[in-house]
Amino acid sequence: MARRTRDIRLKGEIKHLFRARIWSQTAKIIRAWMIWVAFLDVLTLALNILILPRGIAVPMLLPGAIIPPVAIGIVLVWRQPRAPWLQGASLIAGMFLILLSVALVGVLAGGEFYERHLNVMLFVAITAIIIFGIPLAWTLTIAALALGLYLIFQLLNPAIELGSAVAATLFFASGIFATVAARRIMTILAQKTFLFELRDRHRVAELANANDRLELLASTDPLTGIANRRWMTERLDHLWGGGGRCPDGAAMLMCDIDHFKKLNDHHGHAEGDRCLVEVARIIHDNVRRDRDHVARYGGEEFLVLLPGVYEEEAVSVAERIRKSVEAAAFPNPGFRVSRCVTLSIGVAVQSADGAISPEQLQRQADAALYLAKQTGRNRVLLHKPESAERKRIQSTR
Ligand code: GH3
Ligand code: MG
Ligand code: MG
Repeated sequence: MARRTRDIRLKGEIKHLFRARIWSQTAKIIRAWMIWVAFLDVLTLALNILILPRGIAVPMLLPGAIIPPVAIGIVLVWRQPRAPWLQGASLIAGMFLILLSVALVGVLAGGEFYERHLNVMLFVAITAIIIFGIPLAWTLTIAALALGLYLIFQLLNPAIELGSAVAATLFFASGIFATVAARRIMTILAQKTFLFELRDRHRVAELANANDRLELLASTDPLTGIANRRWMTERLDHLWGGGGRCPDGAAMLMCDIDHFKKLNDHHGHAEGDRCLVEVARIIHDNVRRDRDHVARYGGEEFLVLLPGVYEEEAVSVAERIRKSVEAAAFPNPGFRVSRCVTLSIGVAVQSADGAISPEQLQRQADAALYLAKQTGRNRVLLHKPESAERKRIQSTR
């Protein structure tokens, strides 16, 4: 795209987007130009009345009076986006009337003013061609109207001959079309800038998308699809807010599959993987989706964080998870006691008025889990910090 300036042609949706993008700037320029043309017209007519003889100045008044209402009409149409045909038609018709009025001012005054005003009319047209960022077809129409008016009035000019009228028209035509060509290049450069802008926006969106996907990958356990340890560590830091306590209190459940190694040994690693996926799903289904957090913390260990939850409710959630895993009856022939996959869960709680770091809370949940393993597995144990001993709350075996 960097080298293909002349080949750029906007089509379809991109063309509409470009027009919408430049509309307000183009409309502002057109409105400002119209207001200045109207102002200068009124000023010139007033000066003519003061300076020129009445016989010359008075005939200028009627055609000169056309410009202000036409210019104001265009300003009103271009105040807000309208149908393209209406914008184009109003601008082209308005420009025709303005150019005609400038020409007629000279034609009706006659003499030296005749040709001078035709030149002024071309000057007015050229300024519009250069500064109006409008479609090329509209620009060409304005150029053709200016040259047509020039040719007609020069042909009607009693002071010059046919040959010199045509020669003068051809001379100005080359100048006007050079201006149109310059205007076209300006428009194409604006379109090119717009295309670069679109491409950059697209790249930024793609990059943001890739970042999101990367962030998701970095925080997800690929086997079970739940969060990983990294994500949980960040979550804990966030909930604790850098302080020594979680302001609303929280419960932590450290869940570990019992004799998982034996399941792997008997049924193979693939079956072990399937069991991990199933256990992750069961844990996930037994917590509040909008508030609680579950992560695969190690090989067959899952950490559950229950914000704003205290001892009784935490133990009840842990018990619900344990029972659900047991009820799933995933075979584990290596575990001689139940012959099914079971879960041991250590629970630790930080009350709203307590102060304990996430690391300490985790150590307490680990200690309770260790005790659950020691005392027979497939059970939930709550760590009791105040008595400095772990108290078994519930055992199902
Ligand atoms: P305990 O009841 O004391 O927790 O015994 P355990 O066998 O569950 O614990 P241990 O720490 O001895 O073994 C954990 C096993 O988990 C060993 C390892 O092969 C297995 N494991 C860890 N990650 C994965 C995994 O991603 N997939 C599979 N299939 N197995 C895994
Ligand atoms: Mg383990
Ligand atoms: Mg285990």
